[in-house]
Amino acid sequence: MRTEEIPNPVRSITLEPVTLTSERKAHASARSRIRKLPPGQRRRRTVVPASAGWFERLRVRLQEDPQFVRSTVQAAFALLCVWIGVEFVLFMRWGESGGATAFVRRPPGAEGFLPISALISLKYWLSTGIINEIHPSGLIILLAIITVSVLLKKAFCSWLCPIGTLSESLWLLGKKIFGRTFDPPRWLDYPLRGLKYLLLLFFGLSVLTMGIPDLRAFIYSPYNKVADVKMYLFFVDLTAAAFWTLAVLAIGSVLIKGFWCRYLCPYGALLGAVSWLSPFKITRNASTCINCELCTKACPARIAVHTATRVRSDECMSCYRCVDVCPVKDTLSMKLSRRSRPIPGWVFGILVAGVFMAVTGLGMLTGHWHNSISQAEYLRRIRTINTPIYQHFRGHVPAYGPND
Ligand code: SF4
Ligand code: SF4
Repeated sequence: MRTEEIPNPVRSITLEPVTLTSERKAHASARSRIRKLPPGQRRRRTVVPASAGWFERLRVRLQEDPQFVRSTVQAAFALLCVWIGVEFVLFMRWGESGGATAFVRRPPGAEGFLPISALISLKYWLSTGIINEIHPSGLIILLAIITVSVLLKKAFCSWLCPIGTLSESLWLLGKKIFGRTFDPPRWLDYPLRGLKYLLLLFFGLSVLTMGIPDLRAFIYSPYNKVADVKMYLFFVDLTAAAFWTLAVLAIGSVLIKGFWCRYLCPYGALLGAVSWLSPFKITRNASTCINCELCTKACPARIAVHTATRVRSDECMSCYRCVDVCPVKDTLSMKLSRRSRPIPGWVFGILVAGVFMAVTGLGMLTGHWHNSISQAEYLRRIRTINTPIYQHFRGHVPAYGPND
């Protein structure tokens, strides 16, 4: 086994097209600073001999390539979501057939896609200490996501979230097609970033102003009981307006890095807000940094990493892209504190997946995972799903009786 310099990142990264001469000069000067780095200061990576077996290659890759680790975790979580999706389709096939086809249990993980219901469950739990039995896993998943964000910054967005994975794949595709992304200028970027906080404020205030009777009325309403079924039907019977909205979001995500996550996702806003509490931060050693700005150029969250000693931004998703491209040894890393040891990508990946699984596992072990709705009740509700009792408006549901 030997080590070799990491490939010159100036060449390996596709940089945004530069138009200003001053930017070209800065780029050339950064390149020259990297070339002049004494060999002892350059970051080196282990090279596996061609004769090494697949296990050894995998081991070195997992140990030294945070992006490989992250993509593996993202793929595993995306597959889990696909599995949940397939199970839900089979459950719906059973429900829509009136029970004629084989019964497939509704996957509780589907509740992870009901953020408003989970937010209402969270307030109900905080106010009463009760984890409701209508969508218990929705609350547990929300608590797992918040715990990951409090401990490990917005790592959920870049390591686990299936929408984040899709969003990242789309802008990488756009970069492949056009050779660049078309990110808005800074003066427009800041107000656009505020949109997701406005959406969070809207949903947050709607939930915060609900008293306990309103929360209970929503949680036990016919609408909430089948909120996951309604979501399924929304995607199956997509209206023209919904189709074009999704199309605009998809096209926007191809052209603009993190279009949905950066500007519109209220969940991301919530996680960004609590991520301030995280003790883990990307940390730059200013005394060895050569100010090449490669970290800043690689950052999908457009954070000026090269000017920070500790990255505190609510936009940091702990994606390790900046760490990967830094050409100088011991200069940029994820750390608990300035003086602590760097956290390798594979350790961080284990922490992200581990914390998420620990909280959801605790929910399962304590009986807060499967809901209390019986098969007969699901059959009855799916049969009458188009009646007005299953509508809602901003958390307000139609009045219902004990037999509804
Ligand atoms: S600062 Fe680094 S870890 Fe944080 S989002 Fe930017 S590239 Fe990713
Ligand atoms: S921390 Fe950023 S600016 Fe400093 S050497 Fe590393 S990549 Fe270059």
